[in-house]
Order: sequence, then structure tokens, then C-alpha cells
Amino acid sequence: MRIADGVHVLPIPRDPQGASGFLNLSLILDEQDEATLIDAGLPGQEGAIDAALAEAGVRTQDLRRIIFTHQDLDHIGSGAALVRQSGARVLAHPADAPYVEGKLRPLKVTPEMLERRPQMREVLEHLEPVRVDEHLEDGERLDLAGGTRVIFTPGHTPGHLSLYLERPKVLVAGDALTAEDGHLNGPNPPLTLDVGEAARSVRRLAELDVKTIVCYHGGVVGEDANGQLQRVVREASRDLDE
Ligand SMILES: [Zn+2]
Repeated sequence: MRIADGVHVLPIPRDPQGASGFLNLSLILDEQDEATLIDAGLPGQEGAIDAALAEAGVRTQDLRRIIFTHQDLDHIGSGAALVRQSGARVLAHPADAPYVEGKLRPLKVTPEMLERRPQMREVLEHLEPVRVDEHLEDGERLDLAGGTRVIFTPGHTPGHLSLYLERPKVLVAGDALTAEDGHLNGPNPPLTLDVGEAARSVRRLAELDVKTIVCYHGGVVGEDANGQLQRVVREASRDLDE
């Protein structure tokens, strides 16, 4: 789905039937048509991602960069396979990079989590680490889509980042925000490692002038994006006060 000039959202079904919803990857094509993918699905989804890229007119082997918003398995899962096919450079925040690279065990993969969700064992078995070529720091500006700003939004994980595309005013929020049918929500509390930090991150995002928000879980929010962000900030600070 094209949401702005050179900006596409690629919904990938979580399972083959699409019964458990979609993961919403973003694709940025800049002037030279160099392709940057943001996040990379679960392990084994490189085929589904390849098909979604093709719909946007891009071949996997033409990917130049992959940016990870954070370390979670459903974001880095097919990264290694895509890098093998494309030679893409991988970018991530330094606080999450060691987990992406397999130097540290992913923070949310605890014995309790595997107890609760045994199906994650299989996902984990197929997870391949991905080498991070470049660290992204808060405030850094990438030469993508007419200027893309890196916004450090920790909380969901310690090294979570969001991307703000200045020209089309698109915010790629990763898991710093979620959505449902165009309704914006805060980050999912049970999956958020530091709820207070995550709420402060949402407040930072609300300082932006945003036309469209892409949530990895929930997709595109296009209606009154600024107003909805302000509402989520109010809700989050109320939750923290309680
Ligand atoms: Zn996620």
C-alpha cells in the first residue's frame, strides 16, 4: 500500500491464513530508487516479504538497507535471509544491536515467556542473528525520502527507535505505538519492558507534526494523526498517575 511518494506499507500476514493479523513493514524508495526496508517479519517470512516487495515494484536483491526499529523476533526474524539475498546494510540503535546480533539473548525471551507461549520455541529455533553494520542515534538525519529523522523511543525495548519522514510527515512508529482500524493506541503494556519510559517516548513523538502514522501492529493511522497522538499522550500520563 502506497501511503506517500516513495513510501509503502507492506502488510505481511503473521501466519499463512492471516488469522492472527498482520505485521506492517515499511518500504522507502528514495530518488535513486534505492530501497530501504523497515523491519523484517518473523523467521521464515522472506518469501512473503519478497512477494510484498514485488507488489511495490522492488526485488529483494535490490534492497540497500534494512532498518530495525528494535530487537523483537517479529521485527528481525527474516533479516538474515534478506541480507543474504540482497547484501543490504543493517541499521539499528546501539542499545538493541547486541540482541539483534545474537551476542545477548533477546530480552523478551525468558523461561517464563516460553512457558506461557510454547509455540515461540519453534520460532526461536529458526531465528538467525543479523550483523548490524551501522548504529543509529537519536536525532540523526538519514538521506531518505527527502530527510528522515531517527527518534530514540525506548520503553518497549531499551533500543527502540522510530523514524520521522520529514517531507511526507510520516511517522514509522514501530511498536512505540499500536493501532486498530485507524484508532491509535499506546504501546502494548504486557510486551513493553518499561512502561514509564515508553510513555515518555510517546510524548516525544507527539511533538512532531504528523500526517500519517505506521504502527507495525495495527497498520496505518491517517485520520487526525496529531490529534490522536495527543489523546494517547493524555491516556498514557493518566495511566501512569493511577
Ligand atoms: Zn512487534
